[in-house]
Amino acid sequence: MAKPAKPAVRKAARPARISPAEQARIAELFARFEAQESDPSTELDYGGPFTLVVAVALSAQATDVSVNKATVKLFKVADTPAAMLALGEAGLKPFISSIGLYNMKARNVIALSRIILEQHGGEVPLEREKLQALPGVGRKTASVVLNELRIEPAIAVDTHVFRVSHRLGLSTGKTPDQVEAELMGKVPEPYLTRAHHWLILHGRYVCVARRPKCEECPVADLCPSRHLFVAR
Ligand code: SF4
Repeated sequence: MAKPAKPAVRKAARPARISPAEQARIAELFARFEAQESDPSTELDYGGPFTLVVAVALSAQATDVSVNKATVKLFKVADTPAAMLALGEAGLKPFISSIGLYNMKARNVIALSRIILEQHGGEVPLEREKLQALPGVGRKTASVVLNELRIEPAIAVDTHVFRVSHRLGLSTGKTPDQVEAELMGKVPEPYLTRAHHWLILHGRYVCVARRPKCEECPVADLCPSRHLFVAR
């Protein structure tokens, strides 16, 4: 008998032994992020599900700024699967040649455009399994897309989310999947959809890798790592 399919949504069980004090600390952390920016969103420029999928796929191992520089011109020419397919791999490459891994990304974008057109009537399938099945769209990309479009709460773990989660004592996970599972279990429900953005923005602008700006950090008094970076 075939194995039952895995559930599409990764929903970690709420940790059983999280103390009330720790729950309060985590709730306060996210309340502070919310007070700073109540409706955070991706810094990638997009106009709808298709351009969002393309932008997120292009952003793997590249900065949002570099992707936006490329897509501002690309999406004027091709912002639908049909137009992207008409552009073709050779036509697409010059638009994205400043982005790392652009050969592979061009191949994937054309392939996913073809599948969206031929198998999904030209509309991006906004269900995790179908989305993840598109070329170049892994779990992380699907999570970013579904979360950004407010379809499914998800916390895609990139280098910023990974670092910040450890520094803030939200996770001890050794892999992005482990960190994601811990975050999904610890972040209070009302903040789940926005947590991904807050953690990325915090890591990008405040809790930066080499010299975190603890002096201007809005959650410094709640951070167990602050003493590592600030002289007593
Ligand atoms: S206090 Fe420092 S280490 Fe802690 S989250 Fe803020 S910037 Fe990062």
